[in-house]
Amino acid sequence: MSQKLTAVKGMNDLLPPDSQSWVWFEGVVQRVMNRFAYSNIRTPIVEPTALFIRGLGEITDIVEKEMYSFEDRLNHEQLTLRPEATAGVVRAVIEHNLLYEGGKRLYYMGPMFRHERPQRGRYRQFHQIGAEALGFALPEVDAELILMAHTLWMELGLKNVKLELNSLGEPSERIQHRQALVAYFESHIDLLDEEAKRRLHTNPLRILDTKNPSMQNLVEAAPKLMDFLGEQSRSHLKEVCHILDANSVSYTLNPRLVRGMDYYNLTVFEFITDQLGSQGTICGGGRYDYLISQMGGKAAPAVGWAIGVERVIELLKDANLLPLQPSPDVFAIIPSSKSIEKVMLILQTLRSHGVSIQMHSPSMSGNPGSAKPIESDLGNRGSMKSQFKRADASGAHFALIFGEDELSLGCVTIKSLRDGAGSQRVELLSNVGEWASSLQSTV
Ligand code: ATP
Ligand code: MG
Repeated sequence: MSQKLTAVKGMNDLLPPDSQSWVWFEGVVQRVMNRFAYSNIRTPIVEPTALFIRGLGEITDIVEKEMYSFEDRLNHEQLTLRPEATAGVVRAVIEHNLLYEGGKRLYYMGPMFRHERPQRGRYRQFHQIGAEALGFALPEVDAELILMAHTLWMELGLKNVKLELNSLGEPSERIQHRQALVAYFESHIDLLDEEAKRRLHTNPLRILDTKNPSMQNLVEAAPKLMDFLGEQSRSHLKEVCHILDANSVSYTLNPRLVRGMDYYNLTVFEFITDQLGSQGTICGGGRYDYLISQMGGKAAPAVGWAIGVERVIELLKDANLLPLQPSPDVFAIIPSSKSIEKVMLILQTLRSHGVSIQMHSPSMSGNPGSAKPIESDLGNRGSMKSQFKRADASGAHFALIFGEDELSLGCVTIKSLRDGAGSQRVELLSNVGEWASSLQSTV
């Protein structure tokens, strides 16, 4: 017996009907992106490992332990499946000199890869939708991005999404804060867990992000970056807040909000729900004014966010906000194979008028022992009864019956599958254009 083939742990197949919900969701996202005039960008899923080390910072959870990295067997390049897309977008922006005539507003959708412990809302292949505004320095663009995410929640009907906001200040302000923080934690060294001790001299800011309950009091009383911010950093945050206020978008200032990547400065934010357990952050982002130059580009400011698609879909599902699956308008019942060419030409004409059609065709069962059509006689393609059963199961509004008698008279029988009475009418095939639209659902 050969080994059973399964998907990699933490990486999921997305099957109908769930995949249809994703298509719908992506459509909503695209509409919102269009309204804010953000353009789509698609970068490779595999990038040189060095890109992420340089972009995200060596001492981050992602680079330290979550990346899928490997050596290309042929040319020995060190490669990594992208754990996030900002680094790749910035690389592309530099490589193609996209900022030569001013700022760019971009968005992407796609799979990301992180070797984490799989659990609800946390997978090894997951999907992000992200937006990046590159080349813009003013706080109004931070606010624009936040408003764009907020608009998306509104469009989706998601209530109870909370916005948390913070400022990470500028590097010089952070250095001062960091010194105060290290001194504070050193004076309480016996209260630190192993992870915190390890981070004390590498990345003390991340200690503030601890999930360890016994360290909460210690972290709560630690020196706050907010107290080290200079005038410019303060007024940047204030302006973001004023724009959100003017748009009635509520938020909480959370001085403890830090983000997993090293590249952020000034504004950082997260949209959080309490309905997904501990995996409650559905969108995170902020300003990253130094990343472009850090990656070798001409210095330019930037700001962006990324949404965790699985978490948003889960939230929509729980709140019953996913639309019903679309059904075809028409199920085509074809009693005999004799006229299949003619019937399929008619179906094409109907489709060209916008009608969606599922055609009956004898199907196989998925059982390898019986790779034969279920319908016994291919000539008659199964009984009318079994075809009508499939028509009902398809959810179609109408069945079109292409019987030999009808076809020889140049017409087709249309039976309603939804009006209970099963009313029927006959139409001429010579004037499809006149009745095709009556088959289209208005949904
Ligand atoms: P978390 O604190 O939950 O690990 P993060 O700070 O690592 O999140 P980001 O890198 O900011 O997350 O990614 C943005 C969003 O992508 C997150 O807010 C979350 O919704 C989603 N996300 C991150 N990691 C995963 C994962 N492993 N599986 C599913 N979604 C994820
Ligand atoms: Mg993470």
